[in-house]
Amino acid sequence: MTHLEHTPASPPRKKRPLAPDIRRLDDRSARAWTESMAVTPLGRGRYAVDAGDRYVVNLPEHRCSCPDASIRGETCKHLRRVAIEITRHEVPPPGKREGQCAACGHDRFVPEDGPDLCDDCRFVAGDIARDRETGDRVVVVESTDDPADEWVVEGTDTTIADYETNEGYPSDDPVVVVVYPFSRRFESFADLKRYAFPHSRLEPTEEQFVV
Ligand SMILES: [Zn+2]
Ligand SMILES: [Zn+2]
Repeated sequence: MTHLEHTPASPPRKKRPLAPDIRRLDDRSARAWTESMAVTPLGRGRYAVDAGDRYVVNLPEHRCSCPDASIRGETCKHLRRVAIEITRHEVPPPGKREGQCAACGHDRFVPEDGPDLCDDCRFVAGDIARDRETGDRVVVVESTDDPADEWVVEGTDTTIADYETNEGYPSDDPVVVVVYPFSRRFESFADLKRYAFPHSRLEPTEEQFVV
């Protein structure tokens, strides 16, 4: 037997605690983890951090109004704390805000600009969905941020929202673009005619289309 045959496919995982051992952290990281701070999302990637003094962190620009960051150019404890709270899903990441998902009704992080849908309820390309009106299975090509009442059906002057079979669905539903690959033979996925639906008309399934 060669040595290689004894080598497992992947090395065994090391046991580790999830919370960091703060003795191993530098001073700023340890403070970011352990000090009492209140982080309030302000939108547009900005967060107010109240740590006794109140400072404003701009995460996309990696800036903070405290002296440690603005004068000394350090990655201060406020910047680190915001990053930690985002990782722990305590506050929304830049581009998201706290809100109620229009599909599942749960309080979730939803896009700042865009439909009130949580990540779980948004369709992604390849998802198989069912048309609630006809029962047809369709494959999602694209999830858009465009509301149904602003999307004109190709070759008509009617919007998706005004289209008669879509009457029962919210007019500001985001438009989802789908194809029908199951009912016909096709050479390439790209050749299939695309159809636009209001999001709520499509019922999610657990299935994915594998090309
Ligand atoms: Zn700071
Ligand atoms: Zn949802």
